[in-house]
Amino acid sequence: MREYNFNQVRKRFRKAQKRAKIMARRRQQRRRQQNRNRISGVGILKIVVAVVLVVFLLTRASAFFKKNVIEINLTAQNAEMYVGEEKPVFEAKVSCEGDTQTILDEDTGYTIQNLIDELEGDTGYTLESSGDGSEVGTFDIIPELTSAVSTPLDTDWSDKVKINVVKGVLTVKEIDEEYLAKVEARKNRPMIALTFDDGPSKYTMKLLEALEENDAQATFFMLGQNVPNYEETVKKMYEIGCELGNHSLSHPNLVKQSTDEIQRQINETNAAIENAAGHPASLVRPPFGSVNAQVKEAIPFPLIMWSVDTEDWKTRDKQATIDHVLANVKDGDIVLMHDIYETSVDAAIELIGQLKEQGYYLVTISELAESRGYTMTNGEKYFEFPNND
Ligand code: ZN
Repeated sequence: MREYNFNQVRKRFRKAQKRAKIMARRRQQRRRQQNRNRISGVGILKIVVAVVLVVFLLTRASAFFKKNVIEINLTAQNAEMYVGEEKPVFEAKVSCEGDTQTILDEDTGYTIQNLIDELEGDTGYTLESSGDGSEVGTFDIIPELTSAVSTPLDTDWSDKVKINVVKGVLTVKEIDEEYLAKVEARKNRPMIALTFDDGPSKYTMKLLEALEENDAQATFFMLGQNVPNYEETVKKMYEIGCELGNHSLSHPNLVKQSTDEIQRQINETNAAIENAAGHPASLVRPPFGSVNAQVKEAIPFPLIMWSVDTEDWKTRDKQATIDHVLANVKDGDIVLMHDIYETSVDAAIELIGQLKEQGYYLVTISELAESRGYTMTNGEKYFEFPNND
């Protein structure tokens, strides 16, 4: 049996204690070091997470501000009827620029194109008018979306698609038996439509007097900005059976304007014409004859061009204008002149007599189209109305 010497035991014990202390101190040091390491690791991780988060939020924010909401235009088409007749079936045109393949409903895969197809199939909206056809006048035709379309537009689809509804005009006309009889009687005779742009001006009234004396009519494509200065002239045009035309407010090239601006140019001009004559224009001639797909979509009226260009604005020569018309005109033609030049108005006054002598009837664009069996469509261009019989 081993004997234990107390002193030896104590020595060993002290050694062991020392070792234990050293070990403990080392452990502690190691632990501190580990902690320090862990702390700096966590710090770096925090910074990385914060940076990622900021970058993420910034991209989300810019995506949010740049978010492309596709716009669909739903434009009610203008309609005309005689008082007391049955109301025509109203129509609306659908147009859209942008990516129509955007998915609106993840579950069903319903896209913007599907929505457009529905609208084009006359579902999802109704066309309401305050005019029931029992009174003469002009009335709005307003597209109203059904709740099946308007509810998701306001909620789930609001960041993806938007529908702009554009009003149209219902014109309820007086039945003018005398006018209808006149149209019927001369419908197979040679006829020409004289048209005058950029007015009205101080020369327009004497042109109207010459037309009236000769039982002739013309069509005036007026600038909205000129109309308030010549309201009596515009009223007279309508009274003697001339046709009121819209040539924009300030003569911009419509191809270079936004849809909103195109519509403002047309609507403000029509408001000015209606204010003067009690009746808005039913035809549009775009300035410079400049038209593209956007202009066609934006203007809910037939677009009237010309087949005989007198270039009267360039020559400013009465005789040159007369000669140009007499050398080039034929049945069904639309002649372009400008009633802001005295030379043009003087030429027109002489032409009215000469064309009449040659057997031509001078008629409005609408009478010419109607007599030749054309039904004008909104947004379509017309250069002439030849007799196709
Ligand atoms: Zn013009």
